[in-house]
Amino acid sequence: MPPRSRRLAGLGVSPILQMAAKAAGQREQGRRVISLSAGEPDGDTPDHIKAAAMDALRAGATRYTPLTGTPELRRAIAETLRRSHDCDYRLDEIIVSAGAKQCIFNALMATLDPGDEVILAAPYWTSYIDIVRLCGGVPVVLPGEEANGFKLTAAALAAAIGERTRWVILNSPANPTGAVHDEAECRALLAVLRQHHRVWILSDEIYAPMVFDGRTAVPPAALMPELRPRILTVNGVSKAYAMTGWRIGYAAGAAALIAMMAVVQSQSTSCACSISQAAATAALTGPQDTVAAMRASLQQRRDLTLRALAQIPGLRCPKPQGAFYAFVGCADLLAAQADRAGPDSGIADDVWFCEQLLAQQGVAAVPGSAFGMPGYFRLSYATAPADLAEALQRLERFCAEIARAGRRRAGA
Ligand code: PLP
Repeated sequence: MPPRSRRLAGLGVSPILQMAAKAAGQREQGRRVISLSAGEPDGDTPDHIKAAAMDALRAGATRYTPLTGTPELRRAIAETLRRSHDCDYRLDEIIVSAGAKQCIFNALMATLDPGDEVILAAPYWTSYIDIVRLCGGVPVVLPGEEANGFKLTAAALAAAIGERTRWVILNSPANPTGAVHDEAECRALLAVLRQHHRVWILSDEIYAPMVFDGRTAVPPAALMPELRPRILTVNGVSKAYAMTGWRIGYAAGAAALIAMMAVVQSQSTSCACSISQAAATAALTGPQDTVAAMRASLQQRRDLTLRALAQIPGLRCPKPQGAFYAFVGCADLLAAQADRAGPDSGIADDVWFCEQLLAQQGVAAVPGSAFGMPGYFRLSYATAPADLAEALQRLERFCAEIARAGRRRAGA
């Protein structure tokens, strides 16, 4: 056995990636599996972005770039933030990394000492928790309530902030719920944070372009400019431009923080991929019609998903306002399954639900416990509409079978 650091204790490969790998494995064996587990858009990167990458390759952009990103890309990011956030960031206030995930990792690695606390709401994007732990920090999880779409409230935040709090992570639109903070909710959270000068705010806005029903995301740095020196805005091209494999994310914040993040990056990846940076520059500076088209198409698929879920007794789903996930409650069906299998069987949980959904119906979803909220599962509806409709029919059959078996046992 290789030595295992204490830092790695209790950590494993992200359950989301594990479920995607399971689905891919079954597909390779010839099974028609429909995966609603992946956190990525189903479309291809737009052609003009690919063309920019090929141009960069031909022009010999094959060397290390500056540590914090090419000036062209950082200028494009500054211009993007000027438009979306009404904020002027200098180039030394911006860092480009291999995905938004690396930005978050850099920030927490650069700032957390053992025992420092990071506040976040559950259900949460799985990686937050494990990145905090890898960096020696302690995640302080505030469980959300379904009744308000699982959103972090100002009262819960105020009660959780303590001596050791270093960061609060905000994620709107949220993974896995699709919840979006409206302006009043965001303002209330920031009003709490204004009083705590030592607490920094990490605003993960990776799903910001995907907000539905005519709403727009409210960026904290735009809403309360006096807090801007303590806000790290994180974003990237992965989701909005269907570029998950290109690995480009960025962060904008105080120059001193960005410089510390650069130290971490200099000893890990050195810089993001040169070709991908050229592609990301084209994504941010080129036509934005593909982003609008994706938003409209995702909204249609969200509606299709909600209509289908509403027909399935035993499931509940708060209406997602953004991103491309539905976070579905299945507690009634789990109770029916517990009746059927006996109260001590211990198998009637959301992990069992997702495993059986894959085994019996060939549909991959991610258990809510992976997001710190058992009794739910996450569906990604960024899937071809025909596959999505088929997967939802299979889900209906699966749920009907559990309910029927539960009733049979109850009547027996
Ligand atoms: N933040 C959230 C909330 C995400 O869901 C994801 C990916 O699923 C990321 C960040 C990471 O994005 P990237 O691919 O740019 O690393």
